[in-house]
Amino acid sequence: MTSVSEESQVPPGLDPKIPHSARMYDWWIGGKDNFAADRELGDRFAQAIPSIPAMARENRAFMHRVVRYLAGTAGIRQFLDIGTGIPTRPNVHEIAQKIAPETRVVYVDNDPLVLSHARALMVGDPAGLTAYIDADFTKPDQILADEDLRRVLNLDEPVGLLLIAVLMLARDADDPWAAVRALLDALPSGSYVAITHPGQDFDPAAMAAIVGAATQAGMVLVPRVQSEVARFFADWDLVEPGVVPVSTWHPDKEPGDAFYWAGLARKP
Ligand code: SAH
Repeated sequence: MTSVSEESQVPPGLDPKIPHSARMYDWWIGGKDNFAADRELGDRFAQAIPSIPAMARENRAFMHRVVRYLAGTAGIRQFLDIGTGIPTRPNVHEIAQKIAPETRVVYVDNDPLVLSHARALMVGDPAGLTAYIDADFTKPDQILADEDLRRVLNLDEPVGLLLIAVLMLARDADDPWAAVRALLDALPSGSYVAITHPGQDFDPAAMAAIVGAATQAGMVLVPRVQSEVARFFADWDLVEPGVVPVSTWHPDKEPGDAFYWAGLARKP
């Protein structure tokens, strides 16, 4: 993967002076696809919560575990990953196709920088298929009607929907619950949804400092309490242990601290 950190290679539609969640997250997990503004705000967040880069890695590790659970234990062969982020190996299709090469994955993000890397998400097992859609999760109808989505996913078969560290980027006024509900309603019985979300209730003072820094920089960031995160799962059946701190969900090592809620639910 080539780096686009050099301002000369900035993709169209992207202003490197405005910090952006995908690139801040990339900075925290050790990637190269970020600009000075992203690193600056990322570091200010880390002043309020020094373990923020470690938390981002915990969040990414949950994605690995939940995709392995879905492709393995649950037998899911189709994924819809919304809020993909800048490609970071292993990506969803690399994890799932290692278990089941025929797995199909549709990626969705609305950042031009992620779009510029979309090709990296298209290289998968020849037995499977992947696609990338440049779209906004607050417009679920657009995502669901997309030609590429319809070509790659069969919505009569169970789908694993991933909304990993993305829903906090929508205000309550944009009703992310309604957007998620529309996605859930479009999927058949036996489908799953996995969600992680920064929690308001772990360390409210530290979160307030982060939200203040984000707001000042013109970024939307809405940490939410456990019950608000739980509402995203609607009436689907939560897989044990429910909506829990992200590092304690089916851990494969000693769980570290991370102020994210996480859960997985199955459509009855
Ligand atoms: N899911 C990945 C990346 C999280 S970073 C992971 O957990 O490792 C959040 C991503 O959501 C960024 O890439 C950002 O561009 C994307 N995003 C933010 N708002 C979005 C929206 N309204 N619709 C789609 N994607 C969005």
